Amino acid sequence: MPHPEPTPRMLIGGRLVGAEGDPLDVLNPATEAIAGRAPDATDGQLDAAVSAARHAFATWSTTSLDERRAVLTACAATVREHLEELAVLLTTEQGKPLADARVEIAVFADWLDGHVALDFHDDEVIETETRRIRVRRVPLGVVAGIVPWNYPVVIAAKKIAPALLAGNTLVLKPSPYTPLTTLRIGELLADVVPAGVLNTVSGGDGLGPRLTGHPGIRKIAFVGSTATGRKVMASAAGTLSRVTLELGGNDPAIVLPDVDVDEVAVRVFWTCFANSGQICIAAKRVYVHEDIYDAFAERFAELARTVKVGNGLEHGVRLGPLQNRAQYERVVGLVKETIGSSAALLVEGAIPDGPGYFVHPTVVDDPADDSAVVTQEPFGPIVPLLRFRDVDEVVRRANDCEYGLAGTVWSRDLAVAEELAARLEVGTVWINQEAIPTPDVPFGGRKSSGLGVENGVEGVLEHTDTQVLSVRKE
Ligand code: NAD
Repeated sequence: MPHPEPTPRMLIGGRLVGAEGDPLDVLNPATEAIAGRAPDATDGQLDAAVSAARHAFATWSTTSLDERRAVLTACAATVREHLEELAVLLTTEQGKPLADARVEIAVFADWLDGHVALDFHDDEVIETETRRIRVRRVPLGVVAGIVPWNYPVVIAAKKIAPALLAGNTLVLKPSPYTPLTTLRIGELLADVVPAGVLNTVSGGDGLGPRLTGHPGIRKIAFVGSTATGRKVMASAAGTLSRVTLELGGNDPAIVLPDVDVDEVAVRVFWTCFANSGQICIAAKRVYVHEDIYDAFAERFAELARTVKVGNGLEHGVRLGPLQNRAQYERVVGLVKETIGSSAALLVEGAIPDGPGYFVHPTVVDDPADDSAVVTQEPFGPIVPLLRFRDVDEVVRRANDCEYGLAGTVWSRDLAVAEELAARLEVGTVWINQEAIPTPDVPFGGRKSSGLGVENGVEGVLEHTDTQVLSVRKE
């Protein structure tokens, strides 16, 4: 007997709610077969979710921080108990290797725990001789959390943890390409979170604008492309909803000549190609000093040629398919354009005939700075290596970009690396380490990469308004 495809339901006001009309088919990107089906929320179901969240806010916003921390801790424990089931579902709908999916589910739980551990206070007192001033961080109301398809579960945790910790309620919307694991988590948390505090809604392309334009929403916490971010911000103007926008990037990695080439080539390789390059903070332009360029390129290209690409459920696969057909076609277009251009290739990645959206890593050898593979965010497994001669030059080239999300710098000389890093017009620079955010450290993009921050106490504060109570002392 074949297994029926999963059809997880939405969590609305504490109840699990199925499709009222035709559900959405969710495809497995490794096989293009149906991985499961998700409800396509009707207007009535969306209204019910926002209204349940508003209703729950009245009580949730009056709970103590410790009560809210306890609920987040219980959510983390529940998800850990179901790690294997969730990881398999995530690989099936998203495509990433099972080992990486397991990490993603574990990080969901870690993210909640990380927020529980934050030194966040919602009520602080400033005493002067004449006044006692209370600075209260009051929750906003209903937050809309909107999530892309590359890290659907980790990014959902980034929406849930700060919103709930600050005393808000949440309507969480996964991408139409990857709703299943998020909905399943909602099912598992139905009895863990008070009714209406966490709601999940799934749907097609129309659902996002309906959610951001909904008059009941007080904040939009959005992660996705810069183009969509602009639409979200325009929509928020109508309701004066607060926004946090975590958008696209074209992050530089800068490798100075004093590094251990073998070690750093491996680390930069994974900073580029993990999740098949579908990471906002993946290194997308690798600047290598001319003294070590050839040795670095050789090691990097060898990894690109030998890494195992395939169905994420197969043993030993390190890179899965691209997540959806539109993204696959964009990346294939860029690979073909690059192959057809004057740029030299160190590795020309295979693009096997279907089924599945597979593209093997392509490495481009020092293309022109104005070539598409350098100026665009590929969000796929194609990376240019770029030669540079001196620090001023590489800083100028790295900053000549509309994006400003993050970057990495690699050098044995920490002082030099830090000085260079401070000159990059980006939100985060990781020095001698892969680009990995943590729940305790603020993260946000500059320029066209976003607005506001998530993570850390600052990320929680962005889910609050400040209220000051100033008392004159006699
Ligand atoms: P996308 O912008 O197409 O979609 C993101 C989410 O927004 C989805 O849930 C989608 O359904 C929803 N959406 C689409 N149109 C909408 C609208 N008009 N109003 C409201 N919501 C709408 O992005 P994607 O293709 O899913 O994700 C890839 C992009 O996300 C890349 O550019 C990547 O760099 C970016 N990203 C950024 C971060 C970050 O933290 N900065 C993290 C991950 C991904």
